[in-house]
Amino acid sequence: DIIDPRTVQGLQRVLATVMVRPEKRLGQNFLIAPEAFDLIADAILKTRPDWVLEIGPGPGGLTRALLERGLTVVAIEVDPTWVNWLSQTLCSVYPKTLTVLEQDALSISWQSLADERGGSWSICGNLPYYITSPLLAKLFEDASSWQQAVFMVQKEVAVRLLAEPGQRETSALSVLLRYVADIRGLGEVSRQQFYPPPEVDSFVIQLTRIPSPAIPFESLQRVVRAAFLHRRKMIRQSLAKAPGSSWNSQQWARILTEGGIDPAKRAEALSWSEWIQLARLAAKK
Ligand code: SAM
Repeated sequence: DIIDPRTVQGLQRVLATVMVRPEKRLGQNFLIAPEAFDLIADAILKTRPDWVLEIGPGPGGLTRALLERGLTVVAIEVDPTWVNWLSQTLCSVYPKTLTVLEQDALSISWQSLADERGGSWSICGNLPYYITSPLLAKLFEDASSWQQAVFMVQKEVAVRLLAEPGQRETSALSVLLRYVADIRGLGEVSRQQFYPPPEVDSFVIQLTRIPSPAIPFESLQRVVRAAFLHRRKMIRQSLAKAPGSSWNSQQWARILTEGGIDPAKRAEALSWSEWIQLARLAAKK
């Protein structure tokens, strides 16, 4: 019998067996709420992917929830302790449907992994919070053929990601993610549902891939990053300040006005259609 880590008692037994303490440096706040594991696994199950990429399985609570639903899982974990634990336990129960890779999820190309395996795939994870932004950026910078992504992130990050362009909380990441996905919140998870409890509450978000609008993504990324670098400034100024910009603030003002965008707006006030228009204008030069 393998010890189930999805409750605080179970998790503590696993930690005692493996003889380790959760590593703060690796964002190891383990989830101890069966309903939250079910929420993530059920969302993934809905689109019936051929396989699921799990980021940071740790002691394997989410991994089990996925495997119990008949899903095939490829799990990437950087901590050898947990890779060994999973190899000695869950892998022997699910030899055909579980693969555990000892890798840094940031450095490994998710798209190459997907190309090697073929088939439809989704991504999930209770993310290590110290690298949430670069992991999310991989959804448009690295991988492109995933169907759905379901992640536990810290609540403040979820609020930003769920904000519509034009709302105060938006960020470069939330605008860029919108290019590839519809983003929905599935529910809040309190800090008490983790061991050890982190300093913040969490939120489960679901990203469903959408066909991307026909604009050069490079241009979108360039203008979005430039505009949010100085989010308090007018966009004509922040765009002119961007490294490599060949236009000054007056020239930007003229281009923006001709394109129907108010050059005195700030990044956080631009709507999604204005971002798309701006990417088109920037691509022309
Ligand atoms: N899935 C488990 C759960 O829900 O309880 C663990 C989640 S814990 C918040 C984050 C996990 O990601 C830890 O197991 C940690 O070791 C792992 N991790 C941290 N950095 C990583 C990285 N760069 N690549 C892969 N896994 C990483």
